[in-house]
Amino acid sequence: MRGLPVEEREVLIVGGGVAGVEALIALADLGDDRLRVRLVANHPTFVLPPEQLGIPWGETPLSIDLARLCRAFGAEFALAEVTGVDAAAHEVHTTSGEALTYERLLLCPGARPRAPYGARTRTLGFGALPDVLAEAPSVSVAVVVPEGVSWTLPAYELALRCARRGRDVRVVTSERTVLEAFGSGVTDAVRALLERHGVVAHTGRAPAPGDRIEGLAGTVITLPLQDGPALEGLDADSRGFLRVDAKQAVRGAEHVWAAGDVTDGPVKQGGLAAQQAELAASEAVRSCGGRPPRGGPPAILRGKLTTNDGEELYLRRTLDGADDGRSLERPLWRPPSAICAWRLARWLDAHRDELRSSPLAPRLRTPV
Ligand SMILES: Cc1cc2nc3c(=O)[nH]c(=O)nc-3n(C[C@H](O)[C@H](O)[C@H](O)COP(=O)(O)OP(=O)(O)OC[C@H]3O[C@@H](n4cnc5c(N)ncnc54)[C@H](O)[C@@H]3O)c2cc1C
Repeated sequence: MRGLPVEEREVLIVGGGVAGVEALIALADLGDDRLRVRLVANHPTFVLPPEQLGIPWGETPLSIDLARLCRAFGAEFALAEVTGVDAAAHEVHTTSGEALTYERLLLCPGARPRAPYGARTRTLGFGALPDVLAEAPSVSVAVVVPEGVSWTLPAYELALRCARRGRDVRVVTSERTVLEAFGSGVTDAVRALLERHGVVAHTGRAPAPGDRIEGLAGTVITLPLQDGPALEGLDADSRGFLRVDAKQAVRGAEHVWAAGDVTDGPVKQGGLAAQQAELAASEAVRSCGGRPPRGGPPAILRGKLTTNDGEELYLRRTLDGADDGRSLERPLWRPPSAICAWRLARWLDAHRDELRSSPLAPRLRTPV
């Protein structure tokens, strides 16, 4: 530490997913030596969610050891399950009973998946995918997007992967158009891609939560709904998502920011989680006397649809819906990662070979 001890601030990040890791790297970059950063998560590894979709087909997702990642950025790692925050005391509570202190807190614990059609239906995030492979290759597959899912792209990606196996595949979605969030400028291109690969999309049709949906196809997989973690001591909406202001500050809690799926924004998505994390980290550094670059609220939705043939479609739309969206068959951002988290993506780009050569077994907390 080169900075004067009196200037040091303890920053605690809760969560080692997309938002937590992006915040970790941002703090190392923006915070100079004035910050002592600790990241706490309830799982020791980080696996990029889009890469998990390949697990049933024998692909091994890149698995990053969070303790090692923290060391690379001069931070400490602790394994703990956070239950709540006492913002007045600057303490975070954990299931072990231990209280972790902080001066600045960044909350990034993500959302909790919930099965929309009950336990009998296979839901992504509950170990559904390996079963699909185990069944006869000729069986038909329906991927369902229930009402209330804000990030629907994994349904189309999954359908494309199943279609590659010669299955009769359809997406049954509550959206009015295919990938509705990206606007009319994207829908036609995605429909064409789906048709080329034999995937049929039925829009505006998803069954209501609680319905029996087994009859849609031989195998039915649904995207999950999401709930917030309802951390004690903080202002949350009725579904447990933290209420934040335009700078990601948690309402009513001084020196606490939140980013990612845990927040009450309308779209829960990795690229947006990263943009929020950048802003939250910038604000935390600014509050410690640093002068981070000016950053604004999340503004752009980005997505990448990949087929097993290597065909790629890059999608982009401004979040305020001011444009009709855009798609291109070549990268619209760099590095061209599925989740557009630019600090994480650049680090992965630089270390991918090294991580692949010493892979850790992917110990997934929530199986696909
Ligand atoms: C199959 C799939 C494919 C996807 N594809 C894309 C895509 O292509 N592009 C895109 O932008 N987004 C995609 N997403 C969405 C994206 O993955 C999420 O929006 C993103 O991961 C949210 O990041 P996060 O950091 O908020 O939460 P998470 O990534 O869920 O991370 C949460 C972290 O907090 C930890 N944690 C949770 N609870 C606690 C607790 N109580 N105490 C301590 N630690 C805790 C977890 O262990 C984890 O480390 C996909 C999602 C899925 C499931």
